[in-house]
Amino acid sequence: MGPSPSPLDHKAKISEVFRSIQGEGKYAGVPQVFVRFFGCHMHCVWCDTPDSIGDGKQEFQEYGITDLLKEIRPLAKGCHSISLTGGEPLMQVDFLREFLPSLKAIGFTTYLETSGVLYQALAKVVRWMDIIAMDLKLPSSTGCRPFWKEHKEFLQIARRKEGFIKTVISKDTTPVDIMTAVRLVAKIAPETTLILQPNTFDLNHSVVQRCLDMQNVCRKYLEDVRILPQLHKFMNLR
Ligand code: SF4
Repeated sequence: MGPSPSPLDHKAKISEVFRSIQGEGKYAGVPQVFVRFFGCHMHCVWCDTPDSIGDGKQEFQEYGITDLLKEIRPLAKGCHSISLTGGEPLMQVDFLREFLPSLKAIGFTTYLETSGVLYQALAKVVRWMDIIAMDLKLPSSTGCRPFWKEHKEFLQIARRKEGFIKTVISKDTTPVDIMTAVRLVAKIAPETTLILQPNTFDLNHSVVQRCLDMQNVCRKYLEDVRILPQLHKFMNLR
């Protein structure tokens, strides 16, 4: 049997590295470098990055820490932060544990975009995260099973950091799911901003009206509830 690989040998599967503006949530509009991690444990029916969720296609490149930093640095001038996005970045937590200290040592602000489910992985790397953009996955929106227990555990860790929660509202989203979500947030982290994001793929009057109705209801539980569509889609940006 050969020697065990050193932790520093960890490589990440990365779908793409690019610069754009953040298109979602509380930080919409800020310039970022996006590092899109390949692979996801979810199968949301409206996933807008199907090539990065690992569903049959294998579209990624492998990067070590030094090579990934080399890609990021020239793009990052004047950027607000480095978005670790996906897919689900926390699926590659062993790499993140080695990579994030290097990213922080250079002085970058780290911004995690996550499904808000893999709380054990988050606990291993939360110390290096500056901003956490956490999804709440409503089963009636995603078509997946409920993740209430996982979201609860995740939020208990994530609330130590700056951030917000986003939930996608589609034509199939039920008021019961939204109420379960808002009560969960109100119980654990009532100070958190909740973003209701109308689904880009069925952005019509009835979905917008559902967001408006639910904003009124959610504001009985939380101070800061906003409706925001995906800005980058309107501008034809990545
Ligand atoms: S969590 Fe995000 S990347 Fe994963 S399937 Fe859902 S939308 Fe796609």
